[in-house]
Amino acid sequence: MSEIKKIRGFQDIHGENAKKYRYVVDTARDVFEKYNFQEIILPYVEDISLFKRSVGEATDIVQKEMYVFEDKGGRTVALRPEGTASTVRAFIEDRMYAKGGYHKLFYEGAMFRYERPQAGRYRQFHQIGAEIFGVDSPLGDAELIKMVKDILDKLGIQVRLEINSLGDFESRKKYIKALKEYLKQHEEELCETCKTRMDTNPLRVLDCKVETCKQATQDAPVLTDFLSEKSLERYTKLKEYLKAMDIEFIENPRLVRGLDYYTDTVFEFITDEIGAQGTVAAGGRYDNLVEQLGGPKTPALGFAAGIERLMLLLKELPEEKPLIVVIPVVSDFNLEGLKIADNLRKKGIRTEMLLKEGSLKSKMKLANKLNSKYVIFVSEKPELKDMQTGEQEVFENVEDLLDVVVEKV
Ligand code: ATP
Ligand code: MG
Repeated sequence: MSEIKKIRGFQDIHGENAKKYRYVVDTARDVFEKYNFQEIILPYVEDISLFKRSVGEATDIVQKEMYVFEDKGGRTVALRPEGTASTVRAFIEDRMYAKGGYHKLFYEGAMFRYERPQAGRYRQFHQIGAEIFGVDSPLGDAELIKMVKDILDKLGIQVRLEINSLGDFESRKKYIKALKEYLKQHEEELCETCKTRMDTNPLRVLDCKVETCKQATQDAPVLTDFLSEKSLERYTKLKEYLKAMDIEFIENPRLVRGLDYYTDTVFEFITDEIGAQGTVAAGGRYDNLVEQLGGPKTPALGFAAGIERLMLLLKELPEEKPLIVVIPVVSDFNLEGLKIADNLRKKGIRTEMLLKEGSLKSKMKLANKLNSKYVIFVSEKPELKDMQTGEQEVFENVEDLLDVVVEKV
């Protein structure tokens, strides 16, 4: 029979990689909890109009990258390409705003984008992310960035932080006008995609990866020169807070993000270690999105980080708990072995009950492969073997042996 292979751009995560995945998620969760964020578990499938109305019709995500299909009921649905849209939908649909105050939510899970697969870029990838609803103060921007930094620091990942302000809609409208005029004059130097982007999504031309586009936009007008008083004030405050918290950052006036909903603050944590796929975490404000999706006007902000990219940057995993292998010397002691293993696990010890029967030699060979700290041989008189030193100790009964084991691990 021929083998069935996984679909292009999809991955199995197992072994060392699964440990890395879990470590990234657990670390992030830990930090989210410290900042008092609440978890939200979102659906994987949504009505396609949710993404059209939030991420934006003209964006790469909606234009080319979405997995869209018709379900059996004739609805046009999409596999979620990102988490913010769904979180906002839930915030509105479940009337979370009715409780007053503000809301801090985090999520974790798979996202789907039909992109060209390469290192750090897959068609199913995973994100951790968080959103804050109802906070206008730049305190929110500062805390969000600090929280992402805390996660990266805890993981031992070194990246640079770039920030920018896109301004409110008013400032941006003025800027886009000036930018379009500039781009018109440099149309010849732009790549084919940017020639169309110039009209549909001119901001995106600024972060085109093509060399000629980069050069053509070198002297383009700068967004920060167009900020309204309020936007400028927020941006200045944010920088002040970041400095006060010793968070280093680079101001990058060309940082624009590929999603339409951002306003004012945008930021990215970037590394040069994994090629062109260098952005590991990104986010910003989206003060108009809640209203745009039918909710009450609510200032909001959030971020998302790619778990696979964080995994690529992880230098080392924390040491695992020591393992103990239980080996019945002959099958007469199988039952006794099961009981000992049960006892050890109840005491919180990582235990492998050796499940293959056969000669003691073959069992020992397996135990060696498992990288265990101790082996317990179960027979008339139980024996404990230290796998590092090779030392062996015989006990009168199981209870005495267990006491010693608990003390040692
Ligand atoms: P990029 O510029 O790399 O395409 P993006 O701007 O599309 O990223 P966002 O939509 O902001 O990314 O998603 C946030 C994070 O999710 C990214 O910084 C990245 O770490 C991760 N990410 C996005 N797309 C993918 C993908 N196809 N595979 C793996 N990780 C991804
Ligand atoms: Mg992308």
